[in-house]
Amino acid sequence: MYPFVYQALSQRVVFGSGTTGQVVDELGRMELTRALVLTTPQQEEIGRQMVTTLGARAAGLFAGAAMHTPIEVTDEALKQIEAVGADCVVSIGGGSTTGLGKAIALRTDLPQIVIPTSYAGSEATPILGETKNGAKTTQRSMKVLPEVIVYDVDLTMSLPAKMTVTSGLNAIAHSVEGLYTQDRNPIISTIAQQGIAALARALPVIHQRPDDAEARSDALYGAWACGTVLGAVGMALHHKICHVLGGSFELPHAETHTVILPHATAYNERAVARELGPVADIFQSESAASGLWSFARRLDAPMTLAELGMKQPDLDRAVEVMMSNPYWNPQPLAEEELRGLLDDAFFGRAPGTSL
Ligand code: NAD
Repeated sequence: MYPFVYQALSQRVVFGSGTTGQVVDELGRMELTRALVLTTPQQEEIGRQMVTTLGARAAGLFAGAAMHTPIEVTDEALKQIEAVGADCVVSIGGGSTTGLGKAIALRTDLPQIVIPTSYAGSEATPILGETKNGAKTTQRSMKVLPEVIVYDVDLTMSLPAKMTVTSGLNAIAHSVEGLYTQDRNPIISTIAQQGIAALARALPVIHQRPDDAEARSDALYGAWACGTVLGAVGMALHHKICHVLGGSFELPHAETHTVILPHATAYNERAVARELGPVADIFQSESAASGLWSFARRLDAPMTLAELGMKQPDLDRAVEVMMSNPYWNPQPLAEEELRGLLDDAFFGRAPGTSL
């Protein structure tokens, strides 16, 4: 018997093709009349189209969302919220744009409608990471959980194949850790397996044919499932390593998850081989770690920390930061083994080589 506590999160999810057209109805359902649309500068054009679609219910566009949710950007957006009298935000984009919407909700309690265009999964979580003076802090608060998610497969067709692979592996990482986390439960483990399986089916197809609508739909469904896992249960070593490498060494988010996942999985598989069994099965491999590694290689994903810009002399300091505040992990954290893990990831050796 594995006793558990499960806390369901309350969100409305609309999934389909052409669903951005339904955002007006969603605003009407919540009696919202002045939406500020949020995007990154790179996706400003999609934001403009949304403003047009929303017509009288649009209060304007803020196209300044940036990676790691810097407080200065949030302050700037808050000024616009006040100036235009917005009563909600409509966030269109990846995790960076969703993060800005969450930061606004934290400070104003304004409702959020999120239209995700990557597979990061932030839209399904009550988690917000922000940066102030270069330092990143992460918090969990129901205040930041978006009220509505509108998944529109059409908007993901433009996600470049390379980003699709890394973003998809970022999503898979949530589910892999969700399978063995200490607060795991049967519902979330089922969702985790579904999410990994959907992305395992879809990513190789998208890698070959980025405009395959069926595979894009599968991938977006998988991303939702994996985001749901991240929102519902705690994470462990893999997410900790990526948080440190992103926060303290400015490595890119999805790519770092991609490189680290097989290595962190090998580290933990010694303690939770049974829980990771479904991952090995999905990738038809003898272990979850080797399955994930071969899958990433097959998709031409980045395989080394070196190619992401990590400097070898910084690896010691990275381990120091990882060990500086203790956290739960199924396999005890041993400084030397972690250093070996980072070496394997730095050079792109097979996972578990140094263990
Ligand atoms: P991102 O949001 O920074 O997107 C990267 C770039 O791709 C941006 O320029 C974006 O505009 C562009 N882009 C996104 N979708 C596109 C599309 N369909 N077509 C063309 N371009 C597109 O990257 P991300 O990986 O989605 O998110 C990473 C951020 O999200 C990190 O800051 C991370 O910490 C955060 N995150 C938070 C959570 C959470 O639960 N709080 C979960 C996952 C990620």
